[in-house]
Amino acid sequence: MKFVSTRGHAKHVSISEAFRQGLAGDGGLFVPESWPAPPIDPAGAALQFASFAAGALAPFFAGDALAPRLADFCGRAFDFPLPLVKLNDDTEVLELFHGPTSAFKDFGARFLALCLDAIPDPRAAARLVLVATSGDTGGAVAAAFHDMTDIPVAILFPKGKISARQEKQLTSWGPRVRAFAVEGTFDDCQRLVKLAFATKAWTERFQLISANSINIGRLLPQMCYFAHASLRYRAEHGRNPGLIVPSGNAGNAVAALWARKLGYPIREVVFAHNANHAVPDYFRTGNWEPQPTIATLANAMDVGNPSNFERALHLHPTPGDFRAHASAMSVSDDEIKREISASKNYLACPHTATGLRARSLLSKSDWIIAATAHPAKFDSIVEPLVGRTIPVPPRLREILGKPSTCAEIPADLENLGQALGV
Ligand SMILES: *Cc1c(COP(=O)(O)O)cnc(C)c1O
Repeated sequence: MKFVSTRGHAKHVSISEAFRQGLAGDGGLFVPESWPAPPIDPAGAALQFASFAAGALAPFFAGDALAPRLADFCGRAFDFPLPLVKLNDDTEVLELFHGPTSAFKDFGARFLALCLDAIPDPRAAARLVLVATSGDTGGAVAAAFHDMTDIPVAILFPKGKISARQEKQLTSWGPRVRAFAVEGTFDDCQRLVKLAFATKAWTERFQLISANSINIGRLLPQMCYFAHASLRYRAEHGRNPGLIVPSGNAGNAVAALWARKLGYPIREVVFAHNANHAVPDYFRTGNWEPQPTIATLANAMDVGNPSNFERALHLHPTPGDFRAHASAMSVSDDEIKREISASKNYLACPHTATGLRARSLLSKSDWIIAATAHPAKFDSIVEPLVGRTIPVPPRLREILGKPSTCAEIPADLENLGQALGV
C-alpha cells in the first residue's frame, strides 16, 4: 500500500517512508492512498489487542520492509491492559491510560518508536528525537524511545505551563532523555523545533527524528483500539456503538473515523472538545475557521487550530458528508468540573470528563467514551473536586520517585544548540 498527502502534491510513499518523513513534502499529512475493505470477523472481539492490531494493520504494511516485523512490534508496544468498563446498560468507557505514562499517547508513541528504530539509516549513530510538548506527548515519546530504543531524545516544554506530574514524566529518564524548560509558550517550543529541522548546522550534526502527533505511525494503532472496542461492544450487546472521543488536535477522533471507514461496527463518531471550538463550529456552520488557543482545565486538548482535522476533511470533504458520519461539541471548564464532581461511579480526568459531558447531552443509546488519561495525572484538578486522594498507578509512582534534571533556556535556537553540542 502507498500513502499520499492530504494536499495531493507529494510523491506517493511506502509506510516506512511516511513514518520517516512525518509531514508530507507539500506540507500536508499522509493518508492511505485507498481504503482496504478487510473482512470484518466478529471473532476479533475475543483476540488479545496486540494480535488483533497486527491483523488489522497488515494491509497497511503490505509490501513494506517492516511487514514481517509487525506482529512482534504490536506484541512489544501493546503489552498493557485495554479495559472496556461498563458505566451503565448502554455506555462503556474504553480506558486508554494503562500504558507507561498513563495517557493514550503511549499506544502511538511506542509503536512509532519501534518502527522508526527498525528503518535502516546510514546515519543511525547521529539520530536525535527532537520534540516540543504542551504536556502529554513529550512524556509518551520520552518513555517510548527510552524504553524501546537506544535513540536519544531532546524535549522542549514551556516552563511553568504543565502539571507537576507531567513535568516529572519529561525530566526523570536519565542522560539519554534531555528536557529543556523554555522561557516561553508551547508555540515558542514548536517554533524552535521547526527551526532546528530547517537549519543546516543542525541537520549536519544530527539525523533529526520527528515523533509528533501528525505522524501517521501514531494514528494507525489508535484506529485499531477503536476497531477492537467496537467489536467487543457489539459482541456483548448485539448493537453498534457510537464513539465519543475527547479531542484537541483531533488525531484520536480521526483514528476513530478511520476505523469506521474500514467497516468496523461503529455507528458514528463524536468529537468532544473543550472550550476550543473550531471543530464544533465547523459542524454547526460548515465553515472551517481555526481559532486562537484558549487555556482550559483539559490542557492536552488546548488546540485552536487542530492540524489533524485536515485528515477528517480529506476523508469527508463536505460539511454534509462530515455530518453524516460525525458530530462535534464544545464543553466548558464549568461543565468539566461539574462532571468530575458529580460522577459518583467513575473517576475521570478533565479530558475524559468532556466525553462524559457529551454523553449526557446525547439522547441516543449505545456509546463508548474514550478515557484518554488517568485522573492521577491531573491530581491538582481532580482531587479537590472529588474530595479524596487518587491512588497513583505503579509506573507513574516509579517515575515520581526518580530525580529530575532539566535545563532552563531562553526561547532561541542558539542556546539550545550550545546545550546539545551543535
Ligand atoms: C493528546 C490528548 C488528547 C487530545 O488528543 P488529540 O488526538 O490531539 O485530539 C486528549 N486527552 C489527553 C489526555 C491527551 O493527552
